[in-house]
Amino acid sequence: MFYSNDTLRKKISKALSDKTLHDNLDTFFHNYKISHQTAYEGLNFSKLKKEIGKLKDKTSQERLKLFDIFKENVEKTGAIVYQAKDSKEACRYITSVCKKLNAEYVVKSKSMTAEEIGLNPYLERHGIKPVETDLGEWIIQLAKETPSHMIMPAIHKNRFQVAELFRKYTDEEIDENDIEKMVKIARKYLREYYFKATVGITGANVAVAETGTIGIVTNEGNGRLTTSIPPVHIVVLGYDKLVKSFQEAMKIMRVLPKNATGQIISVYVSWIKGAMDSIKNPTGKKETHFVFVDNGRLSLFDNPVVKEAFKCIRCGSCANVCPVYGVTGGHVFGHIYTGPIGVVLTAMYHGEKQAKNLLNMCTGCKACTEICPADIDIQKLISDLNAGIVEKTGLDSVKKIVFSQILNKPTTFKNVAKIGSIAAKPLTKNSFINQSVVPRKHNFRILPSLKKHSFSEDFRALDTYLPTPFKKVLFYPGCAIEYLYPDVGISMVKLLNRLNIQVDIPGKTVCCGLPAIHSGDKQSAKKTIINNIKYMKNPDYYDNYIVLCPTCGSTIKEIFPQMLSDLPNDFKKSSAISSKLKMFSEFLDELDIKLKVKDNMKCTYHIPCHQIRGLHFSAEYILKNTIKDSFVPLPDADTCCGFGGSFSVDFPEVSSAILDKKIENILSTNANIVLTECPGCLMQIEGGLLKKGIDVKVLHLSEFFDEYVEIEQQ
Ligand code: SF4
Ligand code: SF4
Repeated sequence: MFYSNDTLRKKISKALSDKTLHDNLDTFFHNYKISHQTAYEGLNFSKLKKEIGKLKDKTSQERLKLFDIFKENVEKTGAIVYQAKDSKEACRYITSVCKKLNAEYVVKSKSMTAEEIGLNPYLERHGIKPVETDLGEWIIQLAKETPSHMIMPAIHKNRFQVAELFRKYTDEEIDENDIEKMVKIARKYLREYYFKATVGITGANVAVAETGTIGIVTNEGNGRLTTSIPPVHIVVLGYDKLVKSFQEAMKIMRVLPKNATGQIISVYVSWIKGAMDSIKNPTGKKETHFVFVDNGRLSLFDNPVVKEAFKCIRCGSCANVCPVYGVTGGHVFGHIYTGPIGVVLTAMYHGEKQAKNLLNMCTGCKACTEICPADIDIQKLISDLNAGIVEKTGLDSVKKIVFSQILNKPTTFKNVAKIGSIAAKPLTKNSFINQSVVPRKHNFRILPSLKKHSFSEDFRALDTYLPTPFKKVLFYPGCAIEYLYPDVGISMVKLLNRLNIQVDIPGKTVCCGLPAIHSGDKQSAKKTIINNIKYMKNPDYYDNYIVLCPTCGSTIKEIFPQMLSDLPNDFKKSSAISSKLKMFSEFLDELDIKLKVKDNMKCTYHIPCHQIRGLHFSAEYILKNTIKDSFVPLPDADTCCGFGGSFSVDFPEVSSAILDKKIENILSTNANIVLTECPGCLMQIEGGLLKKGIDVKVLHLSEFFDEYVEIEQQ
């Protein structure tokens, strides 16, 4: 069934109004961040993720070779290996095994591959009753729902809802305040099914080719019971679960619980080598089947865009940190796999048409990429898949005109901005867009209006000449500083001039190209980037290139050289610029200066996504040292504010929900100033606070340093 934009919007509004879902996600995500950090204490996470990324990065030929070795090893023990080309074939085979055994019941331990192939409904249609034994899976089975999270399938339910289900399906007296007792009741109820069932069905977290062993991780021991009590065991798995050796498998097993739930180790890890010995079976071996599901995997293992996704170890942590998932939960994703990697897997297993609308539901914050223990750049995958769809189906006409005819042409861009600022004058009030003209669903923040003078015009009107400058920098303003926040740029210029640092600007201003990239219009983005490089002067002349917007900064640093790799001269120049590029605060930090705050004011700091995860720099410690005791750390400071460029326009209801969480955190600090270093975050947070009538000032660091901080050069 096609998952339309209308269905998505309906699911979003339902999810956003579900208070239980909100509370559950909030509690889990807040605690998850802390436990994840604790679980990795003393370990080098970056090194571990590189190792796992490398060992999981295999071609289809390599994977098929591992499959042959695995098959040979398990067949030696008497196990049967079946290769299913799609879900239907896999379900048909598993059902035929059950039918042959006259199985009335099968018990199942959590398996995403079994979900992917739709095994439960298929078995039920053929008169076989599957019973989920993982507590979360059992809860959603009783509720007749699909998992909303890969690891915690029932995360959207609270104890009252669970108690209600237990009352309906068990004869026990249920007290929703006694969770331990509810768990015991579930255990007692499920226990009898292990003995009633003829077949136990599991997935596999890893499959070791060299030894023919699978590894299964659980926290409840249900995997062990499912594989040992029923006389027959069926394992459903994809070829991507194959690894070469036990050492490789152990590397995955070490990070899996840490990333999935923040546990140091899982409670149970079961290793099963082929068909186990069994006294119940006359052959002396347990009847064991390994069902390898293709579902398009074999043809995609070498696909340059999506092959990365097969490195996934299904830890679910990308969902745990995704700001969109954090407010909508998993059911809005509509298919089996949810969260960031779910969007990618939906495109792969169910087709791009199904994933088209979901692929836009991303702020580009890169939190998923950072947390992924398999070193998958999930955000880039989403962006690349989006670009692929746009290439095939074309971009919406307004965006197409904006990206290809305005944002990359300096004179047109300037004229459009100028006309816009004049035409919108009657619709603005005190430099902000008048609320009465904004459609209701976009009216969750008060946005700044286009300014009469651009930053470049104001800059050229300044006397910035320094006879013997200490350093020379080129400041790249980007669209937001140029047309919305020229004063933020001017503050920085004045401050650097006071430090005897010469500031130049590009010959002309165009957009950095990221909005076009995010919307999938790579062609327009490339033209924009080529223009930028042309206007960014000679890198040999400057000590540094400075930005006040980390989104522009990370685009210039990482994406410019990538996109220009086929143009040798532009590539060389963009690489030189990239190596000299710094955020303003980072540049300031490297100067030998002392900073002292003039007034005593309580400040907090929101860390922009592209600053921490793109440029890998946070000004938090500079602020702590400067503001001292009046600096209050912001809870979840590096979590996205919900801006995400065109994301906040395409999904205003989600953007607003993410912003609400940010504002809640700001209020918890009691700060009277929020500092940040990104014009987009400034716009979103200031807009949200203004809309709610909250008297907290939001300043860009350049304004703060210019206005409130004394700078002493040593
Ligand atoms: S980039 Fe951010 S918003 Fe997009 S999928 Fe990843 S975590 Fe979610
Ligand atoms: S993509 Fe990475 S973070 Fe997401 S589930 Fe897979 S391994 Fe975990």
